[in-house]
Amino acid sequence: MRIDVVSIFPEYLAALDLSLIGKARREGLLELNVHDLRDYTFDKHRTVDDTPYGGGAGMVMKPEPWAAALRRIATESPLDAAGPVKPTLIVPSPAGAVFDQAMAYELAEHEHISFACGRYEGIDERVLEFAQEHFDVRPVSIGDYVLNGGEVAVLAMVEAIGRLIPGVVGNPESLVEESHSDGLLEYPVYTKPAEWEGHEVPEVLLSGNHGKITRFRRNEQLKRTAERRPDLIVKLDPATFNRHDRDT
Ligand code: SAM
Repeated sequence: MRIDVVSIFPEYLAALDLSLIGKARREGLLELNVHDLRDYTFDKHRTVDDTPYGGGAGMVMKPEPWAAALRRIATESPLDAAGPVKPTLIVPSPAGAVFDQAMAYELAEHEHISFACGRYEGIDERVLEFAQEHFDVRPVSIGDYVLNGGEVAVLAMVEAIGRLIPGVVGNPESLVEESHSDGLLEYPVYTKPAEWEGHEVPEVLLSGNHGKITRFRRNEQLKRTAERRPDLIVKLDPATFNRHDRDT
């Protein structure tokens, strides 16, 4: 997979050199390019913003640098931008569709994704119209709150998407039982010692009885999800519950 990120703070994305995503880049599983939007400006002050038409607080990102940066990325795309499949452009925005694990799985299948990090009051809306000529454009939010810029949202999305690329997480089994993989939150996890500061690991986990352990974990998933995220339980297909679940 190739990922391109455009930002006025490219240093923000340095964290993507670390840990599993950094390793995936070094191993060639993920090509990640970070572009400084100011490299696509045309004046000596490298201006990327201006006052909003219609008045109001704050500044708006100018369209010209964005057009130049996105045009370059589109022409370098491993996908033929003029062909039936366009590369995807994610525009982080609190006014976008909310990012979730299902979207992460879907995006992990893409060959080329770009991210346009807004700042100030956001990017001139015409940039999104322009970008549709070259990209499948998707405004995406990482939650119902407002950040100062798109970089933190990109860090979250690239990590969530990147870890689903085959080979990035060493043991693919660990992706299967995670929170949100089956619509439930994950069960609690424990490691050694079995007794610590007066707190004990649930006995069933020491029993070696795999059937009982599976049942215990499933019950914990159901209880935890009902307590912390009742909205998720409501969304579950009733057919996914088994006879034992109904007793929980
Ligand atoms: N005026 C915009 C609004 O009310 O929708 C908010 C602009 S925000 C201060 C600046 C930038 O931060 C946005 O263009 C976007 O890139 C990013 N951003 C802020 N909150 C976000 C969120 N919840 N999800 C994704 N990106 C976000």
